[in-house]
Amino acid sequence: MFRADVHCHSTCSDGSDAPSALIDLAASLGLQGISITDHDSVEAYTPNLFAQAQEKEILLLVGVELSTELKGESVHVLGYGVQEERLRSFLEEMQKRRSERNKQILAKLAKKGILIEEGELPQQKVVGRPHIAELLVLKGVCRTWQEAFEVYLKDGASCYVPGIKYTPQEAIAKIHEAKGKAVLAHPHFLPRRFVQRELLSLPFDGIECYYGRLPKQQELPWLEIAKQKGWIATGGSDYHGKVKPHISLGCSWVDEAIFMKLLNP
Ligand code: AMP
Ligand code: ZN
Ligand code: FE
Ligand code: FE
Repeated sequence: MFRADVHCHSTCSDGSDAPSALIDLAASLGLQGISITDHDSVEAYTPNLFAQAQEKEILLLVGVELSTELKGESVHVLGYGVQEERLRSFLEEMQKRRSERNKQILAKLAKKGILIEEGELPQQKVVGRPHIAELLVLKGVCRTWQEAFEVYLKDGASCYVPGIKYTPQEAIAKIHEAKGKAVLAHPHFLPRRFVQRELLSLPFDGIECYYGRLPKQQELPWLEIAKQKGWIATGGSDYHGKVKPHISLGCSWVDEAIFMKLLNP
C-alpha cells in the first residue's frame, strides 16, 4: 500500500535527522513518498537528495512550513511543490527576522539572569525556539524541553517574542507565486472559533487532517471541512527525530491520490 509522510523536519530546521537520514528512514519503514517540510527553509532539497530518493525508490515532494501570525495566533502554512527559486528571497527575509527575534529572546532571558550567547545557538540558517529550549535544558536551567516552553518560550510566556510577523494571507500568496499548494497545518492546535472565523475564508488548497498520533475521532471535523471546501485533506507525522521522541516517521500519512495532487502542479 502506498504511504507518504508529507510533514517532517530535518537538521535544516529543528529536526535531529539530516535530510539524507530521513530518506533512508522512510525507505526502511516502507514509505513510498516523503516531503521534508522544514520551518522557513527548502535547503534540504539538493540535487543529491533527489538522486538518493530516486535510488531508494522514494518519491520526494518539495515542501516547506512557513511560520505566520494572525491576531496573536501562530499559524503554520505548509507549501508543497513550490519552485525554490521563486521563494528564495522570501525565505531569506524570514530567516533574517528569525535571527533578530532569537537575539530578542536571548536578551529577555539575560534580564532574568539566564545567559546564553548568540554563538551558542546552532550555526545554521533556521534557528528557532526548540534550539533555545534545548540549551536551557543543557545548562540545567530547565529539566525538560516542555518546561522551557511552559516557563519561558511558549506564545505569551515571559521570554516570548512574537517576531516573524508575516500573515497567513501573505504566506499563501507567496506559495501560489511559487506555483505551490498552500495547506493549513495542524488546525487542531488552534482555537476552533479562530479557525472558523479567520482561516476558512482564506485561499488554502488543503488542510492537514491527519497528524502525528491524533486520534481518528479528532480528524473528522477537519475531513468534513476539507470536503465542504473542496480542499485536499493532507497529513503527516510532524516527525522531529529525537527532539520529539514519541512521534515516529510515517505515523500519519497520505495515500497515492493525495500525494499526486500535491506533487503535480
Ligand atoms: P519557532 O519556529 O521558533 O516559533 O518555534 C516553533 C516550534 O516550537 C514549533 O514548531 C513547535 O515544535 C515548538 N513549540 C511551540 N510552542 C510549543 C509549546 N507550547 N510546547 C512545546 N513546543 C512548542
Ligand atoms: Zn519544528
Ligand atoms: Fe508546525
Ligand atoms: Fe512541523
